[in-house]
Amino acid sequence: MRIAGQVSVDDLPRICPLLSRQGNPRYGDRETRVVEVRGVRFGGDRPVVIAGPCAVESHEQTVAVARAVKRAGADMLRGGAYKPRTSPHDFQGSGLEGLCILSIARQETGLPVVTEVMDPRMVGEVAGVADMLQVGSRNMQNYPLLAEVGRARKPILLKRGMAASLCEWLGAAEYIAKQGNLDIVLCERGIKAFPSGEYSRYVLDLNVIPAVQEKTFLPVIVDPSHATGVAAMVEPASRAALEFGSHGLMIEVADFSFGEPRCDGAQAIDGETLGRIVKFAQARVAPLMENQHAA
Ligand code: PEP
Ligand code: MN
Repeated sequence: MRIAGQVSVDDLPRICPLLSRQGNPRYGDRETRVVEVRGVRFGGDRPVVIAGPCAVESHEQTVAVARAVKRAGADMLRGGAYKPRTSPHDFQGSGLEGLCILSIARQETGLPVVTEVMDPRMVGEVAGVADMLQVGSRNMQNYPLLAEVGRARKPILLKRGMAASLCEWLGAAEYIAKQGNLDIVLCERGIKAFPSGEYSRYVLDLNVIPAVQEKTFLPVIVDPSHATGVAAMVEPASRAALEFGSHGLMIEVADFSFGEPRCDGAQAIDGETLGRIVKFAQARVAPLMENQHAA
């Protein structure tokens, strides 16, 4: 039986000629393209740690968390000014004001900022502030948005769709690359699978990390916060991701003196826990996969 629309990893050189190793022999079978965000090097000689609040809620909360992130030794600040929420009645983020707050937090700490853009019409506005644009899981296959961020001349953090195959994920990255922007960092953030929601939010697909590294030269990081949805799981999941060769982590952090965060409070860790994760990450000189290949 022939089935329409089915693809396999063997089709990757055709689906993403700009990003597959096969179409780009200069990267060989193990070299990673280094994506630089204001001096922070994804795919460089040590893993990168991005951390910050789920959402930018207020100036005070964001600057307090940003300072904790800086103190912990992380490399970059995250924080959503525009939040994709399941209910339209829930807090949607603080929008343009949130972008201003992020730029103040960057000034205060010197940390480069990554933030999500959901609407192709907002790419210019968000790119005016952000050092790196995040395309979230729900928008991984929003092709007009991918083309628009591809034209924005900013590095892109492309999260994996929660039900996306490797081919679909890399195909989405190719839309960005097709606009001439190869500064893409992939981010595994958990997938919907049989036990999702029973004891964790999603299922962290660690196995995809070496698979990504085999098929493309783009760096890949892991978001253990959305993948687990459970604060106590974030530290062990971070270590596991690094053991699997992840080029970095993106972690949600809260300052609980401001009360429970307005979104994703149950997965937020404190600055002290972040500090331990950063230490663990910084002790790793190069991702495991590269060591294995070099051996
Ligand atoms: C986020 O990182 O803020 C986020 C909403 O994550 P995801 O798109 O992976 O759900
Ligand atoms: Mn979140």
